Amino acid sequence: MHGRFSAEGHSLHGATLMANGAGEGAAQSMGFPPPPAGLGGRPFPNVLRPLATGPRKFGYAIVGLGKYAINQILPAFAECQHARLVALVSGDQEKARRLGSQYGLEESNLYSYENFDQIAKNPDVDAVYIILPNALHADFAVRAFKAGKHVMCEKPMATSVEDCQRMIDAAKHAKKELMVGYRCHFDPITNKTISLARSGAIGKPQIVTTDNNDLGADTTDPTTHWRLTRALSGGGSLMDLGIYGVNGARYLMDEDPVEVRAMIVPNPSPRFSQVEDTITWMMRYRSGGVAHGSSSFTTHAVTRFCLQGEKGSLLLDPATSYWSNRVNLIKTGDIHTWSTPMFTIEALNQFSAQLDHLPISLEKGTRVAATGEEGMQDVRLIQAIYESAHTGRPVATDWSDWRKTI
Ligand code: NDP
Repeated sequence: MHGRFSAEGHSLHGATLMANGAGEGAAQSMGFPPPPAGLGGRPFPNVLRPLATGPRKFGYAIVGLGKYAINQILPAFAECQHARLVALVSGDQEKARRLGSQYGLEESNLYSYENFDQIAKNPDVDAVYIILPNALHADFAVRAFKAGKHVMCEKPMATSVEDCQRMIDAAKHAKKELMVGYRCHFDPITNKTISLARSGAIGKPQIVTTDNNDLGADTTDPTTHWRLTRALSGGGSLMDLGIYGVNGARYLMDEDPVEVRAMIVPNPSPRFSQVEDTITWMMRYRSGGVAHGSSSFTTHAVTRFCLQGEKGSLLLDPATSYWSNRVNLIKTGDIHTWSTPMFTIEALNQFSAQLDHLPISLEKGTRVAATGEEGMQDVRLIQAIYESAHTGRPVATDWSDWRKTI
C-alpha cells in the first residue's frame, strides 16, 4: 500500500519521572483474595474462539491451563503440520477434564502438578510446554528434563539469571532441547521488519523506541493476581510486557547493549506495592545506537516499535499483537505498509509455527530460533534495568555480543 506519511506521536516519559523502586512487602489490601500459598487451579477463563482438534506427530503436554494456553495455544494445534496436543497438566482437574474431552484426550493423559513426573512413562509426550506464572517456569522445566522430555517455556524464561542457568544446565544434562516461547520470532511482520532493517532499507539503524503497555493489572480478574505478586511474577510490566521491547530492540539493532539506565514511575496504588506499574529504560550500543522503551500496566494497550536510520524509519504498530500486526517503511514522505489479516484462524500462524518449529529443528538437527541462552540474555538485561531503576545509576551490560557466537 502507498500513502502519505502522517506523523504519529510516541509517548516517551518526560522529566517528571523519578528514580524509585516499587516497594516490596507492603499491605495486601488490593481488593481481591490473598495469593495462593503454592500451586493451585484457577477458574476456567473465557474461551474466545472455538476449540479445534487434530492428531499430529510430535506430542506436547501443556502445563497450566490459563488464558494464554486455552485461548491461543490449544486452538493453534489445529494449524500445526508437525505438532499435536497429547496431554494436559493442571491444578484444576475439572477444567482439565472439560478441555481434555473437547480435544479428544484420554483421561490417562491428564496430569496434576503432583503426579506430573509420571509423564516420564508416557511415550506420547515428546515435549512439555510450560505456560505457568513466571516464577514456576524453572522448577517445572527441570522436572520435565528429568522426565526425559524437551521443553518449550513461556516468556519470561524465568525470574532470575540463576534459574535460567539451572534450566540450561538441566537441558544439557538431559540432552534435550530448550526453547523459549517467543512467538514474535514466527510472526511474518516481525520477520519482514527485521529483514527490511538488515537490508539497508533505512540505512544504518540508530534509534529504537518501543512502548509495550496493557491494562494487565485488572483486579476484578482473579487470574491476574499473580502478575502483581512478586514471588510469582518476578516483577511488573517489564517482566510481562516490556520484555517484548527488550528482545525486539536487540533484534532490530542486531546488537546487544553495553549499558542500560532506567526509572520506575512511582504509583501509590496498593496494587503496585510489590511490582512496578510503569517503567522506562534506555540502552546504549557500542555502534553508537540507542534504544529507549517503556512498559505500563495502567495505560491503554499499545505495542509499538520505531526504528530510525539515516535514510528512513520503520514503524511497527501494532508490533506484537496476536493478529493484525503492521509495519510501515517511511521514506521521504511516502509510506509502504505490510500487515497480517485481522483475527482469522490463519492469522494464528505465529503460534502454530512456533509449535512446529521445535519438531522441525529436532528433525533437521538445527538449533531452535529462541534458545535458553536467548531467554537468559533478556532476563539478564531485565535484571540490569531493575538494578539501574533501583540504584539510579547506569549499569554496564557489556557481556560481549554472545548472540553472534552461538
Ligand atoms: P493465567 O493466570 O491466565 O494462567 C496461569 C495458569 O497457571 C493458571 O490458570 C493455572 O492453571 C496455573 N497456575 C499454577 N499455579 C498457579 C498460581 N499459584 N497462581 C496462578 N496460576 C497458577 O496466566 P497467562 O496464561 O496469561 O500467563 C501464563 C504464562 O504465559 C506467563 O509466563 C506469561 O508471561 C505467559 N504469556 C505469554 C504470552 C505470549 O504472548 N507469549 C501471552 C500471555 C501470557 P491451572 O488452573 O490449569 O492449574
